[in-house]
Amino acid sequence: MDVSVVGSIALDTVETPTGRNEEGLGGAATYFSLAAAQFAAVRLVGVVGEDFPAAHVELLRSKGIDLDGLERASGKTFRWTGRYHEDINNRDTLDTQLNVFEHFHPKLPPAACAAPFLFLGNIHPSLQTEVLEQAKASFVGLDTMNLWINIALDDLKAVLRRVNAIIINDSEVKLLTGESNLVKGAKAVRALGPRIVVVKKGEHGCLLFGEDDIFSAPAYPLENVVDPTGAGDSFAGGFMGYLAGCGKVDSASLRQAVVYGSAVASFTCEKFGPDRLAEITRHDIQQRFEEFRKLAAF
Ligand code: AMP
Repeated sequence: MDVSVVGSIALDTVETPTGRNEEGLGGAATYFSLAAAQFAAVRLVGVVGEDFPAAHVELLRSKGIDLDGLERASGKTFRWTGRYHEDINNRDTLDTQLNVFEHFHPKLPPAACAAPFLFLGNIHPSLQTEVLEQAKASFVGLDTMNLWINIALDDLKAVLRRVNAIIINDSEVKLLTGESNLVKGAKAVRALGPRIVVVKKGEHGCLLFGEDDIFSAPAYPLENVVDPTGAGDSFAGGFMGYLAGCGKVDSASLRQAVVYGSAVASFTCEKFGPDRLAEITRHDIQQRFEEFRKLAAF
């Protein structure tokens, strides 16, 4: 089955302790699509400006990603600049230029509307609702961020009532629910709508809360993290892509989806931008999946 995604497509400038990458391909929907395309047919909906390099479009196309929903608007592409600390788990956003993203109202082409799986990337929750109004998906996942919890909580709560799954950071669970205990926090998030809650804990892995089920997956112990940008979006792409590829959402496939998401995200961190993600094969992912199995076996 196929999966549609709506979110940012960006030119990112990123500085990490190992180097700097100027105006490289980025954006949440980009990472999501490259990851999900390893498992299922992906339909990308987003906007870029006139300055977006043709080579980036070609890369996405070469991975079989459906770009009918990729709008090219007059103006400049969304830009994001971030700098990672010596402790690479922390970063500062130095600059965000919304550019063509500022007036973006996603329009889903017919095939994107019809996809059974849909991922609402991290955009304003009212835009996420606009997408939901158009889509016919039977399984919807959502990402959000501190900003929307702080400035658009009512809109966020409205869209949360209508989604099946949320992928969220531990700090965002605390901000959204006021609960510092993650088990209580996840319960409170489930009460807002999504029956499946995936809590990412960065280098400490993630927790999946479903119907009567809690699953804990480690993060892959990477020795050299070059650039963690997009790891969260790659996780979401691996998770949703795997579920779409299986065509079913049950306890076993959800657990596997979490491990595939973690495996793909670990590759993303190995090089700048989506470079590593773009070169890996399904076989590489399967090998890492098996390493995860060994890692957690006892
Ligand atoms: P992550 O590392 O998973 O948080 O994702 C980083 C990606 O999100 C980068 O490629 C950015 O271009 C993109 N991004 C950063 N800020 C925003 C924002 N406010 N809205 C949408 N996308 C963003």
